[in-house]
This record gives sequence, structure tokens and C-alpha cells, in this order.
Amino acid sequence: TEKDLRQAQKMEAIGTLAAGIAHDFNNILTSILGFTDMVLHKVPDGGTGRAEMEQVFVAAQRAADLVRQILTFSRHTEQERKPVHLAAVIEDAFRLLRSSLPTSIAMVKEIDVPPDADKVLADPTQLHQVLMNLGTNAAHAMRPDGGTLTVSLRTVAAGSPRLAPYPYLDPVDHLHLCVRDTGRGMESRMLERIFDPYFTTKPAGEGTGLGLAVVQGIVKNHGGVIAVHSELGVGTCFEIFLPAVSLEIQREEDVPEQLLQGSE
Ligand code: ADP
Repeated sequence: TEKDLRQAQKMEAIGTLAAGIAHDFNNILTSILGFTDMVLHKVPDGGTGRAEMEQVFVAAQRAADLVRQILTFSRHTEQERKPVHLAAVIEDAFRLLRSSLPTSIAMVKEIDVPPDADKVLADPTQLHQVLMNLGTNAAHAMRPDGGTLTVSLRTVAAGSPRLAPYPYLDPVDHLHLCVRDTGRGMESRMLERIFDPYFTTKPAGEGTGLGLAVVQGIVKNHGGVIAVHSELGVGTCFEIFLPAVSLEIQREEDVPEQLLQGSE
């Protein structure tokens, strides 16, 4: 039935969220496990700190197990959608990225949306995940020299030619989010594969190839679309269109039930 279908779509969204978290935690845990393993190879049996280091290793392995469990478990939880200010989510992600990226990466924010036209019906955690995944990928693409990461947000009116390539989108105003870098760029053969789960060009332990699959899953689940433009040696731009919440709905105390169920 239609309800079953919607339920399945919701589960899918949770799965992508969990996969996103697992993606990031996996990177951290891989480095903890890798370095602990290195130390264990240097310290002889009975050597100073050896027993403690073994404890660290076991605990990190347990954490890796937990990540896998959360991934399975979270497919059975509900996601929460509400009208969210996209600019506020960008603000948040921007701060977090700034504190974790090297100073060789300049960060520029171009927000050009009136506050009353800046809401999407979304799970804010998932939108945050989208920005973090795109932002960290952009930073990776600018290694080792650095460069500029630009995040921009503007509105696109319903019927605008900018939306014409995507006739399947709802005929409403959309928010247009761009994450642009001045990194190494990609050739077209590669662009065809980047959204595939597990496609990665990063060394084992650094990339899982899930980042962009998760991003695409989240955007689609929110009734939006993602496109990528890239030029080798110049940079890459990911653009996302998300349906804006109409002013009419924003004035209501509660969002209508059928909207909370997600779009068809
Ligand atoms: P991961 O980051 O774990 O490799 P992703 O799905 O996020 O997985 O990305 C897949 C691949 O797409 C990356 O390994 C990288 O080669 C490429 N890629 C993603 N974003 C960019 C970018 N901004 N610039 C250049 N290459 C990118």
C-alpha cells in the first residue's frame, strides 16, 4: 500500500543517516585502531604501557562493532521532519568545518535568502550531514595546497529556467545550495560513479565511498535533487535544490500530517 511505501521511504532515510554517521565514525575508529596497532608492534610483551594499549585496542574494536549495530538498529527508528532554516544549518556546519579544517582552506559563505523564504521541511541532522560530507570531501580535494571552500544559498522561484532540467520536482519555490571547491576536480568518467555506494579513490581507512551515496539519499528523500559540475585542476561544485516550505504552511502551528509523511 501507499502507507507501506512511505514507511519504507522513511526507513531508507534513517538508513542513510546511520550510514552517514557510521561513515564518519569509521574514519575515526580506523585511525585509532591503526595507530594503536602500530604502538603494540613497538612495545614488547610486558613493556611499559603495553597492557593499557591493548585495552585501548579492544575498546576501539568494540566501538567499531557498535557502529555496525547502530546501523542495523536505526533502520527501525523514526525520523523527525520539521520546517528548518537552511541558513542556520549552514551556519552550524560552517563553524564545525572551520574548527576542523586547516587554515590553508579559506571558507566563504554567500547567503542570499530572505528569512521567511528560507525553510525546508527536513530532518536538520540529515541536512547537517549533507553539508559536512560535501565540506570534508571538498577539503580533501584541495590537499595539500589548500584553496577556497564556498557555500552559497539562494532561492529559485517556481517555474525558473534553473529548475527546468528537473521536471519531476514539485512546482514550488526551491532553495538552491551550492558547495564549491577549488580542488583537483574530476573527469567525466569519474563523475558517473561518485554517487555509487562504496566508490572511493581514497586509501583504505580514509574513505568508505558512502559519503556521497548518503548525501544523494538524503536529498532525494527530501524531495530534492543534486547535481555536480567539475573541471580537472579547477574545482568542483555540488548543487542541491530543495523544495521550500510555503509561507502558508509556515504560519500554521503544525505541519499537515501528509507533509510530515514525506513527499511521494
Ligand atoms: P569517500 O569520501 O569516502 O571516498 P564519497 O562518496 O564521499 O566517499 O566520495 C567518493 C569519491 O568522489 C571520493 O573518493 C573522491 O574521489 C570523489 N570526490 C568527492 N567529492 C569530491 C570533490 N569535491 N572533489 C574531487 N573529488 C571528489
